Amino acid sequence: LSKQKGGNQLTFFSEEMNEEVLKRFEMEGYLRKALKNKQFTLHYQPLVCLESGELFGSEALIRWYHPKIGNISPAQFIPLAEETGLINDIGRWVLNEACKQNKLWHDQGFTHLQISVNVAARQFQQKHFLKVVKDALQQSGLPPKYLILELTESTMLKNKKHSIAVMKELQRMGIQVSIDDFGTGYSSLSYLKDLPIDTLKIDRSFIHNLRMNTSDAAIVKAIITMGKGLQLKVLAEGVETEEQMKVLKKLDCHFAQGYFFQKPLVNQEFEKGLQQQ
Ligand code: C2E
Ligand code: MG
Ligand code: MG
Ligand code: MG
Repeated sequence: LSKQKGGNQLTFFSEEMNEEVLKRFEMEGYLRKALKNKQFTLHYQPLVCLESGELFGSEALIRWYHPKIGNISPAQFIPLAEETGLINDIGRWVLNEACKQNKLWHDQGFTHLQISVNVAARQFQQKHFLKVVKDALQQSGLPPKYLILELTESTMLKNKKHSIAVMKELQRMGIQVSIDDFGTGYSSLSYLKDLPIDTLKIDRSFIHNLRMNTSDAAIVKAIITMGKGLQLKVLAEGVETEEQMKVLKKLDCHFAQGYFFQKPLVNQEFEKGLQQQ
């Protein structure tokens, strides 16, 4: 009986595996068509200056709506897009769209707004990445100093020599670079003095339980102090409560982003917020 049971389990297990593989293939097929079928949109989450409370820009976050599946989170499909190489086309679309939208806001009179765009490792490492960025700026007419590119530590440290050259060229062009999810990489900090970086974005895992005199507060404080010493700006991600905001203010953190201020919004909703300010 137990053998029979085991046998059944084995069959069940392999069916599950098939389902997984099938699902991946299916997803890949859907992802291949998503750009052409205009299933991607961008949402914009306000970036806020803690001292003045003013909104100074936004992070562009991709959204995928598939008519059969519904919404699929970027945490799910960006890795698949990287594995398949589709990230280059998707990433180019994001850059073009984000620059175009930010230029539109400039044209409406919000000429101080920055736009922060996530760049995946494979996208950054592609041969023509600089050309893709230049084209997005040229076609939109957005001045380079209003564009921020978000890279992770592992992205920059892959192919280090090449990465440094690309980052230096970005800096020469006047584009800013942020380190996304800062504090979650396992790399040494020595790269911080060699690389042209403008901002550290403290990962939201350090903010989630942030209260005064906790170990998270000690880590956040250390990052802010180090950032100041290196003349970097520091932004806290994932700020959800007033208490977290107050602690960050007390620790002299420059910038913040999170549900406490605003969730990521579609462009029209973001615009309403601008007009109300
Ligand atoms: P990320 O770049 O670290 O973006 C921040 C994520 O935290 C976003 O999730 C945002 O919606 C979420 N978030 C913002 N405030 C809060 C908060 O107060 N609490 C909590 N719990 N979450 C908050 P999202 O939009 O699901 O994106 C997830 C990740 O997917 C991003 O993390 C980024 O790594 C990636 N991603 C998103 N859009 C793009 C894109 O256009 N290109 C690339 N390459 N990656 C993207
Ligand atoms: Mg980001
Ligand atoms: Mg982040
Ligand atoms: Mg993060």
